[in-house]
Amino acid sequence: MRKVFAVLCFVLLTASICHASVTSNDRAYYPAVLMYHELKTTPLNEFDTTPADFASQLDWLKNNGYVTLSLEEFITYTQKGEGFPEKSVLITFDDGYEGIYDYAFPELKKRAMKAAFFITAFTVGGISGEYPHITYSQLAEMAADENISIGSHTISHSRLTELSPDAVKIEVLRSKQILENFTGKKIRAFAYPEGYYNSEVIDAVKEAGYEIAFSVQDRGRFGHEACYSIPRICTGLELAENDNALFIEFVKNYKDMPPEAFKERYKPIDNGAH
Ligand SMILES: [Zn+2]
Repeated sequence: MRKVFAVLCFVLLTASICHASVTSNDRAYYPAVLMYHELKTTPLNEFDTTPADFASQLDWLKNNGYVTLSLEEFITYTQKGEGFPEKSVLITFDDGYEGIYDYAFPELKKRAMKAAFFITAFTVGGISGEYPHITYSQLAEMAADENISIGSHTISHSRLTELSPDAVKIEVLRSKQILENFTGKKIRAFAYPEGYYNSEVIDAVKEAGYEIAFSVQDRGRFGHEACYSIPRICTGLELAENDNALFIEFVKNYKDMPPEAFKERYKPIDNGAH
């Protein structure tokens, strides 16, 4: 945490970037995009967030004048190229674990706030280790809510940069078809598993008909439009420390954060053995 704070302090002290002439091909065009995974009352991994911390983060956003966007709104503001509303934010969740239905959905509903959920098509109704996934009926209930957007997170959660071109095509296209059949809605957005992408992967995502894609780390855009490689703030236990101090800094300074700030926080929690 100290290291991340140091990076942020450096940015805050030195940032003098003017955002006046940014286009949708600059990262500074985009509002803060938050990436959650699972909400658990007893976190098992650094990427878990407690329901209480999530609720306090939603309250902070609301109390500080932030507007949550749907994926559809995010795509519209991107394609129009006229900028986003000041103080807007996109809340995203990856993988489709049960906590999104048990905790995230009700907390969002209570506040009439919007969020996007990137679902791994073949894991719905299953379990990954100690992480059960939502069921099809829970997903259907969420997808029917006007404040909830659904996107694709492949069919098997493979690292796309390690697959053959044909396998990548199947992951991006089949997941889109499955989720569209199931939700009855067009699936327009994609999130790369673990944030792994390259130029060929972006080609496949575009060819499949996605209009936007989200990463984790800021790996650059490989000559493509910036809207196919939007980095996300990896939330989790670390960001909630000290009354959400780091969460607040990231949301406020997303546009100026250096690439190294967008690190994956997937790490089992130290049980105190060392
Ligand atoms: Zn994932």
